[in-house]
Amino acid sequence: MSTALEFELPDFLVRANARELFLPPGDERMRFVLDLARENVAAGGGPFAAAVFEHASGRLLAAGANRVVSSGYSCAHAEMIALTLAQRRLRHYDLGAASFPTCELVSSAEPCLMCLGAVLWSGVRILSVGARGEDVTAQGFDEGPKPADWVGELRHRGIEVHGDVLRDEAREVLRAYQAAGGPIYNARRAT
Ligand SMILES: [Zn+2]
Repeated sequence: MSTALEFELPDFLVRANARELFLPPGDERMRFVLDLARENVAAGGGPFAAAVFEHASGRLLAAGANRVVSSGYSCAHAEMIALTLAQRRLRHYDLGAASFPTCELVSSAEPCLMCLGAVLWSGVRILSVGARGEDVTAQGFDEGPKPADWVGELRHRGIEVHGDVLRDEAREVLRAYQAAGGPIYNARRAT
């Protein structure tokens, strides 16, 4: 019986997480994340990546990518991995704790229902996203039954949302994955 929750990160993610990197807000942080998404596809993963930055300094805290298939773990979405690694790094479950600088989650695409919940509980104060939910579902992925006004729900709880950051480029990563016949695993739905 396993007594620890762990799974292997691919080499490119190990390297990304070991980097001492500072990036300005907006496009440059998203470009870094989209590069990770492309690398993840090349490494047999899904076309999604995410990273946590200290918002003001731009210091990279953690990077993740979708590893559901390789890890055999349905929660291994990019956002979940990035948030978990950031919390490990700061040794705290709440990235919004008073002793920490404001944390930003940068994600290649809008969060699905599960990751939306994870964002709420993570303590990040800013969420920046590339592709929209409609871009994700257009390629066959399921976002789950999110509240229609999920952006308003986050704002109401003190989390700022920046959308459409390099949206075209982010959409292209999804399109290329689908065009190459990459597998798509979704939440179970009634038929
Ligand atoms: Zn997700």
